[in-house]
Amino acid sequence: MKHINDHCGIFGIFNAPNAARLTYYGLHALQHRGQESCGIVTSTYDESKQHRVMPMHKDFGLVLDVFNASEIFERKLLGDAAIGHDRYSTSGSSNNRANIQPFRVHYRNGNLALGHNGNLSNARELRHAFSERGTLFQTTSDSELILHLIAQSRRRKQIDQINDALNQLEGAFSLVILTDESLIAVRDPNGFRPLALGYLGDPGQNGKTAYCVASETCAFDLIGATYLRDIEPGEILVIDRKGCTTGHFTSYPLPQRHGISQCIFEYVYFSRPDSKIYGEMVDKVRRKIGKQLAHDAPVPRVPPEEKAPIVFSVPDSSNTATLGYVTECQKLGYRCRYEIGLIRNHYVGRTFIAPGQNQREMHVRCKFNTVEGLLKDRIAVIVDDSIVRGTTARQLVKMVRKAGAKEVHFRVASPPVISPCFYGMDFPSHDELIANQFESIEAMGRWLGVDSLDYLTVDGLMTAVRTANENSQLGYCNACFTANYPVPVEMDMTKEENEW
Ligand code: SF4
Repeated sequence: MKHINDHCGIFGIFNAPNAARLTYYGLHALQHRGQESCGIVTSTYDESKQHRVMPMHKDFGLVLDVFNASEIFERKLLGDAAIGHDRYSTSGSSNNRANIQPFRVHYRNGNLALGHNGNLSNARELRHAFSERGTLFQTTSDSELILHLIAQSRRRKQIDQINDALNQLEGAFSLVILTDESLIAVRDPNGFRPLALGYLGDPGQNGKTAYCVASETCAFDLIGATYLRDIEPGEILVIDRKGCTTGHFTSYPLPQRHGISQCIFEYVYFSRPDSKIYGEMVDKVRRKIGKQLAHDAPVPRVPPEEKAPIVFSVPDSSNTATLGYVTECQKLGYRCRYEIGLIRNHYVGRTFIAPGQNQREMHVRCKFNTVEGLLKDRIAVIVDDSIVRGTTARQLVKMVRKAGAKEVHFRVASPPVISPCFYGMDFPSHDELIANQFESIEAMGRWLGVDSLDYLTVDGLMTAVRTANENSQLGYCNACFTANYPVPVEMDMTKEENEW
């Protein structure tokens, strides 16, 4: 699936001697959540200044490139507490250096740094109120509003100021906040974005345990940390020298009004299969989604004299669902065989396209290639996790036909995407979504150039996720498939406006 980008991945760790380095590994594991920029802020005591400071290093680029010198860790990012952020930015702000997170400020209660995953749905309203009061902004990001709300709170204790700020936010926000004394992890009351808690060392020994939080547990695996639990929707967890103190935002009305609505697209596409989110492995849920797709939209039945259809995924995000799909199709009595029909080049960044070349076609060809000989005269069934604009899918179909497939069928392991996301994912606008451009799925299939096109139903998706994740009694957001937004959004708000 292409053309949807997550806005970011966040990581934080407290009480670890090599906090910056562990954060570096954590961010590297979360790189799939944002590739445009990244940064780390640590907290340490500066002997020469006789007070605590928060050194910072951030830049455009991938984690391995931005943190490419050992001096960054040995001389700059000192301290045993750190937060980090991987960011994908929308086009309007991708070249604005000021928007690279974490953000760091110094205000009357000391140093404060923040990393945010999600989008505030009341950003416009908050920004307008601040502008009226003459507040000067340093970035065009909605995340900066959170820092202003904290700094302008009239409460005296820092934790009360943070609580004050959180109570004024609406929409999606998983946060890591670094103060001079603590690491604070927050998940919005709807629980839109995942956030997990883990530890290094012995959790029974206060003072020796390093606690860490991350958007996905694959970050814990890389640093050898153990997953403890998810940060709950509406939870504010304070990690300091004494251990962890948990609470929920005070007097917050949203959970009652809107219920819990974790992003279901994390299971469909965004999160890594080796991560546990919302209390369950993505691999398990995604396989179940593939199995459900086999019930909703199996491979075509073929006569005994015909060779079994070849089923293959659009790598890598569809691999797991495809495995579930093929196993279940076979179980249901459909003849088919799992194959690797498309090979993905992982080293595609911003491709230079020569004038006159078809941009989209070249981009897809740089990224994918078919396996010669495998598809010749075969019935091919391509499985993708979703179709957004459809341009990549259309190009892939062309390539598969060119490789000799005599029939091409397309199966999608999620329902048609009909609405943009206002909670932290970068979707195209309503009119750019392919599902809104055709009267029927058959018409869409004709445009894609396939012999048949079929999707997982909304009910099928919800059943698969709820069956696979029995731990979760909580609700899910599926607004991009249903247009039922769990928290009111300003539909006329553009991506750029949301970022300013
Ligand atoms: S609209 Fe879609 S992508 Fe956005 S939070 Fe809801 S399910 Fe996730």
